[in-house]
Amino acid sequence: MNVIYLDNNATTKVDPEVVDAMLPFLSENYGNPSSMHSFGGNVAAFIKDARENVANLIGATADEIVFNSCGTESDSTAIRAAIESNPDKKHIITSRVEHPAIKNLYEILSKKGYRVTFVPVDNQGILDLDYLYKNLSDDTAVVSLMWANNETGVIFPIEEISQEVKNRGIVFHTDAVQAVGKLPIDINKTGVDLLSLSGHKLHAPKGIGALYIRKGTKFSPFMIGGHQEKGRRGGTENVASIVALGKAAELAQKHLNKGEYDRIGQLRDKLETALLAKIPHSMVNGDRQHRLLNTTSIAFEYVEGEAILLMMNEYGICASSGSACTSGSLEPSHVLRAMGVPFTAAHGSIRFSLSRYNTEEEIDLVIDKMPPIIERLRNMSPFWKEAMKSAAG
Ligand code: PLP
Repeated sequence: MNVIYLDNNATTKVDPEVVDAMLPFLSENYGNPSSMHSFGGNVAAFIKDARENVANLIGATADEIVFNSCGTESDSTAIRAAIESNPDKKHIITSRVEHPAIKNLYEILSKKGYRVTFVPVDNQGILDLDYLYKNLSDDTAVVSLMWANNETGVIFPIEEISQEVKNRGIVFHTDAVQAVGKLPIDINKTGVDLLSLSGHKLHAPKGIGALYIRKGTKFSPFMIGGHQEKGRRGGTENVASIVALGKAAELAQKHLNKGEYDRIGQLRDKLETALLAKIPHSMVNGDRQHRLLNTTSIAFEYVEGEAILLMMNEYGICASSGSACTSGSLEPSHVLRAMGVPFTAAHGSIRFSLSRYNTEEEIDLVIDKMPPIIERLRNMSPFWKEAMKSAAG
């Protein structure tokens, strides 16, 4: 059975060109870039090229890119550096819909005495900017907001917000793990000081990420060790994966330039429009205008997301649900809860996230398979029967 992979916000297929670029560094070209001999030293030139490609993708300069292990490391490093650089400030601002890489860190920091303001979103996932601006204070060490939401794809107006925050002289970090490679980003049009990105969301392998650090931003390393990355991240470089990320960044730029995301957006819209039309009691979670072109989160009311995923799995269709299994019970995700999505809808929410590898034939197949899946599950659902009985009066 062919796999129809619509879970690209979870991870992406490594581009074959990326695999080709990285393989020599796992075989014959295994030198350590810090070595004095040229066999190792020559590898440094490949890291330099990769750094330039990643910088170009977001309009930064190569010196502002620090390679590390993942988006989570970038997030942790950025927040810790920001608060360590401002030891007298004890206030942090973030949103209610951040990824656990950020959310769980704040839970720890609040136990350590930091006051964390979680800016709310409305029922479309749009950030309450008035609330955010009202809470900026002289005690704020850092504002950290995601560029695009991993569950709904909703995009926050980072350019606008970062300028406001910078006018107050506060450090601004953005978790752009879902945005980089999917949106054109010019970091110099923003007041962003620190930006997190991750390789496996843009067709590079898992276990490689990067942190953008604007020139002049106060910084303290999280991983203390050797002089690698100009002392900003200790540890012998993961050369093969760095080269891979560089190649993936170059390809992402090429695909963005040739409008590949418009094609992906058309496929996403075809899928979304058809499912909403064919399946009653279904709705999109999140604002449909300010959204990543590859993502749609659709709530199928009165059914269980996990059950939908299992049935989709029978046809090789991969997606994600809007629930998280915590302590044995299925809780709707904190993102959907923050948006006030009703319980019966949040539970039946499925995130479809596309990539450049998806085809129209795949989308047609999903459009064909989904309505009977939902119908079958609803016929077994006491909530559905109850809802239909009360609707009938
Ligand atoms: N931030 C966001 C918005 C994400 O979607 C993810 C991964 O899903 C991360 C951070 C963590 O990235 P990584 O898996 O590279 O640690």
